[in-house]
Amino acid sequence: MNLPDSFEELMALLGKFPGIGEKTARRMAFFLLGSDPAWVNALSASIANLHERVGACRECGGIATGDLCRVCSDPSRDKSRMCVVETQEDCVAMEQSGVFGGVYHVLGGRCSPLEDEEVPAESLERLRRRIEAYGSGEVILAMNPRIEGDMTAYMVQDSLKDIPVKVSRLSYGLPVGGSIGYADRVTLHIALESRREMEREED
Ligand SMILES: [Zn+2]
Repeated sequence: MNLPDSFEELMALLGKFPGIGEKTARRMAFFLLGSDPAWVNALSASIANLHERVGACRECGGIATGDLCRVCSDPSRDKSRMCVVETQEDCVAMEQSGVFGGVYHVLGGRCSPLEDEEVPAESLERLRRRIEAYGSGEVILAMNPRIEGDMTAYMVQDSLKDIPVKVSRLSYGLPVGGSIGYADRVTLHIALESRREMEREED
């Protein structure tokens, strides 16, 4: 049976979500069609305004509704410790676990030659500037426990080698191949408490 073009278009758009195949996209489209129009309108307005209302913090790159995120605008946060994460989502996971009282830096990318991804140079430059401006004594790398996370951690460490700052990395407890975004509070707490200082490579 032929579906109306606009319905096919909706299915194609829904099919862009990660992990959503054709059948699920069709089910979602029919769910929307059968739902209360007021809710469907609220949903579409919320999506339409997303980029206008929510952006990146100019300091740390975390999710923010204005210039600064909640962490960066909180004077009680300990700026001597900076936790570096790959994505805004990882930052939210660390923050929700409530185990860290310092500030964050979102790289906005990772080293993955296979997927042609890299950490934006601007983000690394901003990281250096912030460490120096804050006088941070420790940088904690909360990269995901995967090969890309390892490469990203070494790359960040290398970019900071001429700055007198201690660089440590979350280690014990995080499942290999897992992600910060899905780790539970206890796991993140243990990983933070058992962080290891990274050895400096001599040139
Ligand atoms: Zn921020």
